[in-house]
Amino acid sequence: MHSENSTVRHPALRRSHLRKNLYSLFAVSIIFIGGCNTRQTSNHDSSDNAFAAFQEKFLDAYWKQYPAASIFIGYGKYYDTLVIPGDEAAAATIRFSRQWLDSLKAFPYDQLHDNNKISFNIIKNQLETDIWYQEVFKKDEWDASGYNLSGTSFYIINQPYAPLNDRLRILSKHLQQSDAYYDAALKRLRQPTREHIELAILQNEGGISVFEESLQDSIDASHLTDSEKKVVRENVEKTVRAIRQFIQALRNMLSEKDYTFRSFRIGKKLFVEKFGYDLATTFTPEEIYNRAVADKKVYHRKMFGLAERLWSKYYGNQKKPTDTLSIIRSVIDKIDLQHAAPEHFFDSLVNQVERLKEFILEKDLFDFDTAYPIKVRIMPEYLRGVSVANAEFTPPYQTTGVTYYNIDDLTEYPKDKAEGTLREYNTYSSQLLSIHEAVPGHCLQGIYNNKNSPDVVRSVFMNGTMIEGWAVYTEGMMLENGWGNHSLEMDLIHGKWKLRELSNVIVDYDLHVLNKSRESIMNLLVKECFQTQAQAEEKYHRATVSQVQLCSYYSGYLAIESLREEYKRKMGDKYTIKDFHEKFLSFGSSPIKYIRELMLAENQ
Ligand code: ZN
Ligand code: ZN
Repeated sequence: MHSENSTVRHPALRRSHLRKNLYSLFAVSIIFIGGCNTRQTSNHDSSDNAFAAFQEKFLDAYWKQYPAASIFIGYGKYYDTLVIPGDEAAAATIRFSRQWLDSLKAFPYDQLHDNNKISFNIIKNQLETDIWYQEVFKKDEWDASGYNLSGTSFYIINQPYAPLNDRLRILSKHLQQSDAYYDAALKRLRQPTREHIELAILQNEGGISVFEESLQDSIDASHLTDSEKKVVRENVEKTVRAIRQFIQALRNMLSEKDYTFRSFRIGKKLFVEKFGYDLATTFTPEEIYNRAVADKKVYHRKMFGLAERLWSKYYGNQKKPTDTLSIIRSVIDKIDLQHAAPEHFFDSLVNQVERLKEFILEKDLFDFDTAYPIKVRIMPEYLRGVSVANAEFTPPYQTTGVTYYNIDDLTEYPKDKAEGTLREYNTYSSQLLSIHEAVPGHCLQGIYNNKNSPDVVRSVFMNGTMIEGWAVYTEGMMLENGWGNHSLEMDLIHGKWKLRELSNVIVDYDLHVLNKSRESIMNLLVKECFQTQAQAEEKYHRATVSQVQLCSYYSGYLAIESLREEYKRKMGDKYTIKDFHEKFLSFGSSPIKYIRELMLAENQ
């Protein structure tokens, strides 16, 4: 579930998911905050040794080229650099990618070990994606929300990679040219979309808070000299002024009568290409779309059968509505009323996670080392206001640490909002939430990613489709294995989750490729997927400011399911589900198509 901050351009950041586009970088739902530590590489023969050396050089060069991206993965270096947008920067990106592609291609792919083959493919896909983004997609010319310094600033201050004094000095340097940055951003916006301008205004306004009270307190509390403090304050003030001017200029564009905006719809050609680069699966978007449309009917039929069987339990002899969708909706309405009290919601999820950990071992689904810390905690302040729950990974450049399952404190919600949230995450739905976010979904996968993944490439260029596909896959897999005791209510609510996941694909494709109207999207989500008006509006909005990412959940899920079938056939009698899970997760967060190649290879 959940979305990603659609405004973040860099693929390394694209994997996260969030529910609302609030501010650009606080909205990510898989988060990394931490320092840096490079990993050890193991011994290989000569091509592999050469490749390991290449990777280390490449990654350092990459983070130097993309300093903003390096901040989000906790690299701890180049944080003071700020790239000023423009033709020069764009050309430099393309040159960089071409050069490194050339050096990469000098390696004899066939002679590399499997793990390095995956890394080779990931690096290649990354560099080709970067070129495509710059030469073809040109998002920096039309997506105003890509320009925002609050997210990087937030992380520069809050990651524990250096003492506070140093972090403040680094921030100050990072912001030295903030005015030039925002000026250049405005010039770069050749034909922006209205939707991204609105988002940019919202997110930049929200982002100003990063430079306010708590930063001012940190400056006061630091041991910088008075003159150093003065410089930091000046750079911060300059930035806030630049942000305000940027917002004003964007507002002016919106109010200019004959301004021609670009449509937010990217059209079929770009959609197909972006799908190929971002998702890196073996499916085409058309295949996924057709499958989603067909599956919607399948789930409606299943859910109708379940609702029929549950009708008398909840409605006694009351007459049923005449259409099947209303019957389903009526039963869901009753299930929604079964939920925890706001003050017990957190404890109920803590409890679920413990039971889930026991369950996956009892049923022999994983070789999970329960000593590995997954901590359930109340959502930290800086992540609030985005989603009810999320998973927070240890940063890729750090080998140890805690994986968090963050849960909002519902006792702090206004009464109506708490009630609405509790209905959405009722007794049944909240279990699916814990499966998806924590065990064996995101938190568990994050742990395997850090524990098993032998090299850092697949951790820093995490594939969002693999990550979301995995979390979605686990929902159904757990129910198949008896979680929830095959209760009709659980199956019905699971059907609603599936509808949400597959409708993400339909909404995305309908809007960007098939040119469908807002009304048709709202109708799909509210009538056919049982969402509230507010949820549907949020999803529509998200689909206007993102492209392709909404497809990742269902596409990833389908790719994993079909890989499991193929693997089962290959292994025959030797197949076990635990073996499938352990092997699949051992490849870190690589694109599923590369994992597939290796898992189905003859010699495996
Ligand atoms: Zn209630
Ligand atoms: Zn997720």
